[in-house]
Amino acid sequence: MMDVIVVGGGPTGLMLAAELRLHDVNVVVLEKRDEPSTESRGQGLHARSVELMDQRGMLDRFLAVSEKFQVGGLFGGIMKPWPESLDTAHPYGLATPQPVTERLLDERARELGTEIRRGSEVVGLSQDEDGVTVELADGTGLRARYVVGCDGGRSAVRKLIGVDFPGEPATVETLLGDMEVTADPATIAAAVAEVNKTQLRFGVTPGENGVCRIVVPADGVAEDRAAPTLDEFRQQLRAFAGTDFGVHSPRWLSRFGDATRQAERYRVGRVFLAGDAAHIHPPTGGQGLNLGIQDAFNLGWKLAAAVDGRAPEGLLDTYQAERHPAGARVVENTRAQMMMLGTDAGATALRKLFSRLMDFEEVNRYVTGMIAAVDVRYDLGEGHELLGLRMRDVRLKEGRLYELMHGGRGLLLDRTGRLSVEGWADRVDHVVDAAEELDVPAVLLRPDGHVAWVGEDQRELLDRLTEWFGAAED
Ligand SMILES: Cc1cc2nc3c(=O)[nH]c(=O)nc-3n(C[C@H](O)[C@H](O)[C@H](O)COP(=O)(O)OP(=O)(O)OC[C@H]3O[C@@H](n4cnc5c(N)ncnc54)[C@H](O)[C@@H]3O)c2cc1C
Repeated sequence: MMDVIVVGGGPTGLMLAAELRLHDVNVVVLEKRDEPSTESRGQGLHARSVELMDQRGMLDRFLAVSEKFQVGGLFGGIMKPWPESLDTAHPYGLATPQPVTERLLDERARELGTEIRRGSEVVGLSQDEDGVTVELADGTGLRARYVVGCDGGRSAVRKLIGVDFPGEPATVETLLGDMEVTADPATIAAAVAEVNKTQLRFGVTPGENGVCRIVVPADGVAEDRAAPTLDEFRQQLRAFAGTDFGVHSPRWLSRFGDATRQAERYRVGRVFLAGDAAHIHPPTGGQGLNLGIQDAFNLGWKLAAAVDGRAPEGLLDTYQAERHPAGARVVENTRAQMMMLGTDAGATALRKLFSRLMDFEEVNRYVTGMIAAVDVRYDLGEGHELLGLRMRDVRLKEGRLYELMHGGRGLLLDRTGRLSVEGWADRVDHVVDAAEELDVPAVLLRPDGHVAWVGEDQRELLDRLTEWFGAAED
């Protein structure tokens, strides 16, 4: 029996598999596509995801193939300067096309020993006390102790475990596609600028090899959700810009709506949901892919501890307790953004007002922190203001904090030199450092970089170590 089956080899599933492999979990990714996706959906990584990549030693790979962008806001189409007071050592996002992100995550998962089986579609699932059996479209089956559905918005796993997906259906749809154009860049830029005065769901963005990414509102909402045709693009481009820019040779044509839904539960027994399988929302603010890999980052170490048999009571349930609110917040903010992207006078007035508000540094910091997800705080009870937040990177006497987190272990950063993690040294690193950028005596970090404890009392520390990492070894 495998330890974990990850269903779906998109960004969420690949990130999760790599996290599990850091702890030697025996994991297989089942992916129904025969080939990697080339769809230009997610446009990049926000600051928190950049931090995650740094925490796992992956950032250099992303920097080598991505442009940095330092834009604040990104809320309802409003862009502002980056808020200087946002507390991160990575004050930027990375423009990384989704296929590139998936390639890098795939490479890393494989390097760490993940088996990725393409052409494997999950069609059935049943669980009992000891494990979960999945049934594949080719009639074969596979069994594991845990299964995680990372199989996207139409998740088969979610349906198979009977989890409701309540929310709002789509009211508007947008066509998105990659294709070539014959119009020259100046004509395109002028036409797009004119349309954007009243319609922000419109764009013609040049990409690699002469292929442009086209975004244009659809004519209504397609009942059958079928892929659009090139003629549909031509018709809508003419309706909005007066020209179809000579679009031809489509590579990928799709439509997306503004439906917002969130799974009622992220866990049923031994089966979990993560990424789009757990939440869908419009792509405003570019948060979906980021949210999914952050789900994976939260679940990976917890599931690994459960497989290892050392997970403290209730640890697996903290996944739902922590990530459901994080998902709900994104669902909510995308709803608000869609209101602001309307073309009526009310939406325009709202956008203007919001834009003026975002000129206040505090508002800009709040909104940018939310979109970049660096302000996500898990409810770990009363305590120090850092408790539950992710810890920013800090310079140490030698090196940086994030460089010490590549192995996905817990970490005690101790300025006192008087504390000890004896009994947990196999799971938690102890770094004694005067760290001038840290103004607390000591901080205990979970493998996902969130602060589990702040203080200097050894007895308190022992309680928190037990709470998050299980019993001490003899
Ligand atoms: C137009 C658009 C623009 C976007 N822009 C951004 C952006 O800028 N930034 C951002 O963060 N996000 C963006 N997103 C959202 C982002 O693309 C998704 O949130 C992200 O792909 C979710 O990753 P995932 O791994 O959870 O799911 P998916 O990427 O959907 O991956 C699921 C995988 O599961 C596989 N699968 C499905 N069913 C089965 C099955 N039964 N058995 C086996 N395998 C299965 C699929 O083939 C797929 O590979 C955008 C989305 C759209 C539509």
